[in-house]
Amino acid sequence: MAKTKLDKNWGHCSHCKYFDSPAQAPLQGEEAACLQPTLSKFALRVFGTCGCNAFELRPGLSKTVEQPVLRA
Ligand code: SF4
Repeated sequence: MAKTKLDKNWGHCSHCKYFDSPAQAPLQGEEAACLQPTLSKFALRVFGTCGCNAFELRPGLSKTVEQPVLRA
């Protein structure tokens, strides 16, 4: 089934406040625990390139980090 619109809540772990990285701006290849309250019981280890719809923007990052990059 094709998606007809973007999921505005979906985002990448590297930009999410629940990504348990000590870095201010984690890298895409970094691995860390997910501390999202509902998901933490599963003790997930996720990569920065992973993501989900429980995403919340990491403090200090601009919303533009989750906008698609247009290439010419
Ligand atoms: S799995 Fe979801 S809630 Fe957890 S760090 Fe990644 S985007 Fe955030």
